[in-house]
Amino acid sequence: MPMRTVSFRTFGCKQNRYDTDFLRESFEKKGFKVVQGDADVVVINTCAVTSRSAQKCRQAIRAAARRGAKVVVTGCYPQIAAGEVSRIPGVMVVSGVRERSRLPDLVLEALERGEPIVDVKPHVQDEEFEDTPVERPDLTRAFLKIQEGCGDFCTYCIVPYARGPSRSKSPESVVEEAERLVRSGYKEIVLTGTHIGLYGGGGALPKLIERVSRIDGLIRIRVSSLEPHDVTPELIDCLRLPNVCQHLHLPLQSGSDRILRMMGRRYDVALFMDIVRKARKVAPDLGLTTDIIAGFPGETEADFQETLSVMKEAAFSRVHAFKYSDRPGTRASGFRDKVPERVKEERVSQVIALGRELSEDFHRRLVGRDFEVLVEDDREKDGLLAGFTRNYVRCRFPGDDDLKGKVIGVTVQEAGPTDVTGIPRR
Ligand code: SF4
Repeated sequence: MPMRTVSFRTFGCKQNRYDTDFLRESFEKKGFKVVQGDADVVVINTCAVTSRSAQKCRQAIRAAARRGAKVVVTGCYPQIAAGEVSRIPGVMVVSGVRERSRLPDLVLEALERGEPIVDVKPHVQDEEFEDTPVERPDLTRAFLKIQEGCGDFCTYCIVPYARGPSRSKSPESVVEEAERLVRSGYKEIVLTGTHIGLYGGGGALPKLIERVSRIDGLIRIRVSSLEPHDVTPELIDCLRLPNVCQHLHLPLQSGSDRILRMMGRRYDVALFMDIVRKARKVAPDLGLTTDIIAGFPGETEADFQETLSVMKEAAFSRVHAFKYSDRPGTRASGFRDKVPERVKEERVSQVIALGRELSEDFHRRLVGRDFEVLVEDDREKDGLLAGFTRNYVRCRFPGDDDLKGKVIGVTVQEAGPTDVTGIPRR
């Protein structure tokens, strides 16, 4: 029998990218040939964080089925809507976020029986972390999933329903995987998860970062999104470690304490700004990135203005702006005083515009200075090489192919709203 081919499509967050890397390697071990684009089997690793993301996944499922592939749907979307997913014509296997390692066997079973299989396990209270180590991540930066799940139930968020309660990978297993990645040549490891401040039951993240930072040959450790209320003095101290990136992603979401309370967030603006000041004391060049939701139910013009002014005060280096949209099944979807679509659109475009200004301001401060850049494998459309600095600024520069995958010094010459350009240091 000819070798079966499989391709993957990933929607959503970094965790999903990690999960896809694991699935890719698991399918290979079961004898599948991994290809890009059309394949006998197409695995779609979905996201359900907004209604729009679920819709995009449905479109991708239908498109793959139309091209004659056997479609496998996995991840958050089937975890919360298995019935809806299994009714889409052409879907062969439906699985959720649990027992990922069984997926290739389920697919082989479905192919053999010629019948669809729906296997979505509901979450349980004392769910264990499923260790799914990845040997060869897809990018120059290796994501390492240390935690999964969240029990915070922010009122707008569907993730706790999809990803289940918090569970963590053991520190030994994290270190082992990180060591293997370093041996395979990865220079940067990004510790990732659904809510990594809950690592080890909460409070255990600084120790883990410190342990990973001692791995010989590991040039950079980056920590993915952190909930502001999880940022302890010990975590801020980790920014002093020489290989820990001077970058924090702290989702502010709103600059109005009233809206933060309605969102069920566990910090207020004063606490947020206190963390920012303390982190900048330790790391003056800190890249501070954030997420903002514009138009949450009940958000008045005054609340929104507060968000803009906190954005300026925090001087974020990059802002991801989202327009609030109802996610059925969350508490906020039942809130009154929904903000009209037109107002939401107007506000989100103001957040985007201010975010770009703040990025450009931040980038301007880097001009004339030298930074270390981890060079990515792909070139930009205009032929330049690109990579990220330790404080998470995208930097573009001319150079030869042998620089790819290396960490090199670049002198920044020009600043723009999305990146900086420079020349490699001799
Ligand atoms: S902390 Fe809040 S926003 Fe983040 S995953 Fe948990 S519930 Fe969702």
